[in-house]
Amino acid sequence: MRYISTRGQAPALNFEDVLLAGLASDGGLYVPENLPRFTLEEIASWTGLPYHELAFRVMRPFVAGSIADADFKRILEETYGVFAHKAVAPLTQLGANEWVLELFQGPTLAFKDFALQLLGRLLDHVLTRRNERVVIMGATSGDTGSAAIEGCKACDNVDIFIMHPHNRVSEVQRRQMTTILGDNIHNIAIEGNFDDCQEMVKASFADQGFLKGTRLVAVNSINWARIMAQIVYYFHAALQLGAPYRSVAFSVPTGNFGDIFAGYLARNMGLPINQLIVATNRNDILHRFMSGNRYDKDTLHASLSPSMDIMVSSNFERLLFDLHGRNGAAVAALLDTFKTTGKLAVEDDRWTEARRLFDSLAVDDEATCRTIAEVYGQCGELLDPHTAIGVRAARECRRSLAIPMVILGTAHPVKFPEAVEKAGVAQAPALPAHLADLFQRPERCTVLANDLKAVQGFVGQHGNRGKPL
Ligand SMILES: *Cc1c(COP(=O)(O)O)cnc(C)c1O
Repeated sequence: MRYISTRGQAPALNFEDVLLAGLASDGGLYVPENLPRFTLEEIASWTGLPYHELAFRVMRPFVAGSIADADFKRILEETYGVFAHKAVAPLTQLGANEWVLELFQGPTLAFKDFALQLLGRLLDHVLTRRNERVVIMGATSGDTGSAAIEGCKACDNVDIFIMHPHNRVSEVQRRQMTTILGDNIHNIAIEGNFDDCQEMVKASFADQGFLKGTRLVAVNSINWARIMAQIVYYFHAALQLGAPYRSVAFSVPTGNFGDIFAGYLARNMGLPINQLIVATNRNDILHRFMSGNRYDKDTLHASLSPSMDIMVSSNFERLLFDLHGRNGAAVAALLDTFKTTGKLAVEDDRWTEARRLFDSLAVDDEATCRTIAEVYGQCGELLDPHTAIGVRAARECRRSLAIPMVILGTAHPVKFPEAVEKAGVAQAPALPAHLADLFQRPERCTVLANDLKAVQGFVGQHGNRGKPL
């Protein structure tokens, strides 16, 4: 499989190089040159497969030529073997023909484990073969950091540096990062906010002199391997509910358009999905596009669903590429305009094309809490605030009651106690068994000033298993 850039000017790469690349050299994002397409008979033959075997069939075309079948099978079995539930991604029924897909049974209790557990193992496999070491730098407001550290902790060839804003992530989220100890794991608390952390990552990619030739790898949601891994659970859920001879709809809590873009790809690969609902919080740039063809930048609003607090959606460019007949020059022109004006709209017929599949809703904190209480009252299920936004959007935007509606359950409620408390439901959620002693575990973390040179100096001093590069 070859991958091309959404802006049309960067060289095509194979899977292995895309795995190790961040942005394409023309500033675009990598996408498959040709999407695999499965027949209904083929998809039907996967009914009842264990998760890792389904994952092998869905993802095999994407890694073809880079990862041998036997290796890929072993990696997938290991990856999904660490999940706490035997079904890996179980479905829980909330109402009539309405289901939550529980994507929080992984080590860090959020859906990001599906991709980052795999990404860490793929990196290790590829780097061992190449006899190469890399440095990962990432910024997190919570979920990505812990999932990335958990995914990479066993990688001999990776040193991972995760920056979070000092005193601005929840205690559970901080401890999920800082209690994973290892020579190659480096938590940095920055005396600044999340944007300061992200800016330092960006600046480090732009000028890598401080790395003395060591390659820098990105683990944010623009990494193609993350999108690829998320396609699988759309197939998994739909097959449980009668696909491919019956259609299914999905409602997806989204910020960077990564998770829902994976659903869009699943549909283009042959899975009969009749509706995809974009569910956002007050940071609603995606809702403004889907409801009115206005992709206009706004300021950032802090919400009770912080993992979706974004101003622009980094993966939206991948949808724009398809809406423009995969014309990279057209996408580059649109994004240049967006960069200077902060505004973007597409031609009417392209927008109408998007609306054939996508609906959307923006849900504020008050409605989020109300939905947590409503669902708890109806069936005793306790939702996290992100998932609750998905449920609200599903209930308000649903096109057909006859078609099963699946809401992606993106996190365990224990990660976001503030929203659960505000919802006023009786019982506070408890930590699952594998994290029961989280508050007793020793932590390791370095506090640094909001200063690029200090951070880069720290990476240079510790980037080789705790020793200087
Ligand atoms: C990251 C995250 C999201 C948003 O995912 P996108 O890929 O940005 O769409 C939603 N919910 C939770 C809990 C998350 O951690």
